Amino acid sequence: MFNASWMPCISPCSKLSSMTNLRLKDVFFPLVIFLALCGICPAQKAAITFDDLPRNGDLPPGVTQTETAKAAVAILKKKHVPPAYGFLNAIRLEGSPDGAEALKIWAASEPVGNHTYSHIDLEKNTPEAWERDLAQDEPTLELLSPNGDWHWLRYPYLHEGETVEKRRAVREYLKAHGYRIAEVTIDWEDYLWNFAYARCAPKNDQKAIEWLHSSYLSTASEFIDLARAQSQLLFGRDIHYVVLMHLGAYTSTILPEAIDLLRKKGFQFETLEEAEKDPAYESDPDAGIKDGGTLLDQLMLVKKLPMPPHAEKPYEQVEHICE
Ligand SMILES: [Zn+2]
Repeated sequence: MFNASWMPCISPCSKLSSMTNLRLKDVFFPLVIFLALCGICPAQKAAITFDDLPRNGDLPPGVTQTETAKAAVAILKKKHVPPAYGFLNAIRLEGSPDGAEALKIWAASEPVGNHTYSHIDLEKNTPEAWERDLAQDEPTLELLSPNGDWHWLRYPYLHEGETVEKRRAVREYLKAHGYRIAEVTIDWEDYLWNFAYARCAPKNDQKAIEWLHSSYLSTASEFIDLARAQSQLLFGRDIHYVVLMHLGAYTSTILPEAIDLLRKKGFQFETLEEAEKDPAYESDPDAGIKDGGTLLDQLMLVKKLPMPPHAEKPYEQVEHICE
């Protein structure tokens, strides 16, 4: 039936029509606002993860690993980030009570996963040697997290095998041993700034520290946008992303702003398990890839898709600042 209340109201409106319009407006507009807020146009989702626990790179003199871990955990809690995996290299604990304490603090609040014992490079080692190194990390993970799901592997250097035979051999081993691969789909190589900050902070070089701050955030922004453009090219949508960060010297300074940046870009946070429910993570480039990069980088490579335009990371400056 024709309903006059859907027609534009031409003056003079009948009292009845105005009342109907009012009721529709009362229901319709709040509904539109509700749907917009609750996600009918869904926000992008991302899981934040940290590598190289208990410490990536150097720390400025006088700063402990325990303080660094405590600060990171407090920021994650304050910012209401769901449990964030930290991937452990147990070799970093050898002769380091401070590292052990830092790790205990992390594991009391956030989950832990395997990043191999010595951060072994699959491109420089056989699958058998790599697998032994992976297994060597396990007793510490079991001790730290007896009830946790630590069977998540983050490949050191994101090297998944420079030959397809190596790649498949390691994947078979991981599957047989109950591991899931913690892939990365957003990476701005934040570790570069950990190393640089450890050099700049003791010099109290304010100009350099200001540059670290602005270059970190602009690089992060660029590579978040790049990952989204890659995702559109590969999947025609925003996948659920996994963000790679490293726990180190710059974490307690920059992490709040990195989290805010992702939120400003419309991201909501979720756990690694939730993110990897996205079928995108079933994709396997299944090829030998040297210097692998993120899962999206690898897929672009095997599908021979051109990389969307983007600014490169400021490797030269960030690697040499404050030397
Ligand atoms: Zn690493």
